[in-house]
Amino acid sequence: MQSWPSHPVPRVPGTPRPLRLYDTSTGEIRPTAPGATARMYVCGITPYDATHLGHAATYLAFDLVHRVWLDNGHEVHYVQNVTDVDDPLLERAARDQSDWVVLGMREIALFREDMAALRVLPPRNYLGAVESIPEIVEAVAKLLSAGMAYRADDPEYPDIYFAHDASGRFGSVSNYDDPTMREFFADRGGDPDRPGKRHPLDALLWRVARPGEPSWDSELGAGRPGWHVECSVIAQNRLGMGFDLQGGGTDLIFPHHEFSAAHAEALTGLHPFARHYAHAGMIGLDGEKMSKSRGNLVFVSRLRADKVDMMALRLGLLSGHYREDRAWTQEVLAEAEARLVRWRAATAQESGPDATGTITRLRDHLSNDLDTPQALRAVDAWADDALSGSGHDRAAPVEIRAAVDALLGVLL
Ligand code: ZN
Repeated sequence: MQSWPSHPVPRVPGTPRPLRLYDTSTGEIRPTAPGATARMYVCGITPYDATHLGHAATYLAFDLVHRVWLDNGHEVHYVQNVTDVDDPLLERAARDQSDWVVLGMREIALFREDMAALRVLPPRNYLGAVESIPEIVEAVAKLLSAGMAYRADDPEYPDIYFAHDASGRFGSVSNYDDPTMREFFADRGGDPDRPGKRHPLDALLWRVARPGEPSWDSELGAGRPGWHVECSVIAQNRLGMGFDLQGGGTDLIFPHHEFSAAHAEALTGLHPFARHYAHAGMIGLDGEKMSKSRGNLVFVSRLRADKVDMMALRLGLLSGHYREDRAWTQEVLAEAEARLVRWRAATAQESGPDATGTITRLRDHLSNDLDTPQALRAVDAWADDALSGSGHDRAAPVEIRAAVDALLGVLL
């Protein structure tokens, strides 16, 4: 599948700082330690709705990871999927009496436009579930023949399930206890009460064709893939085992990332699936969690239509720490717009205070678990000094502009 346009990332003067990032599986801030090529997988959207601010905040967080790695001289192999067939997409299409393929294509197109407008660097591989079905089928067939997966005891719909404990390391991503796993499994798309399963936590790998649902012929019989195995296979086959970072929102920790890892580890006998699991917090609106069910989603495309400067949106979402659940309010946007105006005015001057210390602080804060609130304040301090007329370094405005572009993705 086609991703979205990229843009050149300027070089920043001074010395890069290696990235340290909170790892969900160990509960520690640890160094990321990629080789020449840094390998990252971030879960993509299910395209039944456009990009809301929660999505945007997540992709921006991992865009900063991408940028800090580039600053450190790594090539970045970034992979993202798009779950272009799954229950939520089919349900939305049925509700709206529209074709699920058309709905999916429309929302994917909008997502690409949103990402490009937000200046998110595109993945090298952008893959749909549908185009990945042959490789998913191959993996499910292997799990089945290895006895790590089984057919549900249901003569009509013998769906294929993954025995959750098959890798021997189930729980190593989330570290959740059994009651928490059961609660999230039920809340986040799992089917604990499905008759014919051997254990409530076993996850769907292949759904046998139902009347009126799309399906694909395969050696498993006609059907369609489960969600966790989609990401597991797409990531493994592009990045290999032990890749540097698996990312997504905190709502993907369990069951999604736990199972993506368990599938891959069971299939290969290797551990870990990813060396780092990083998760972005949720965005709320005016004190409430932003969610489909509350109907209070704020869409990036809506803000674009309202002529909100996407660089202000970027600064607004980066003004909070990526791991915090945080609120989106008019004040957050207004502050971000004011900040953008100040930064643009300061860097439009012919000279300013020496930029070296500011760029060092910017790098230090970002390398420390993407501490964007402090990183933005470091640039604020330089801009305030520049606007008050102190400093006569003629290279400084250009250097600050390059650093803000390369490291924060904000074009001034
Ligand atoms: Zn995923």
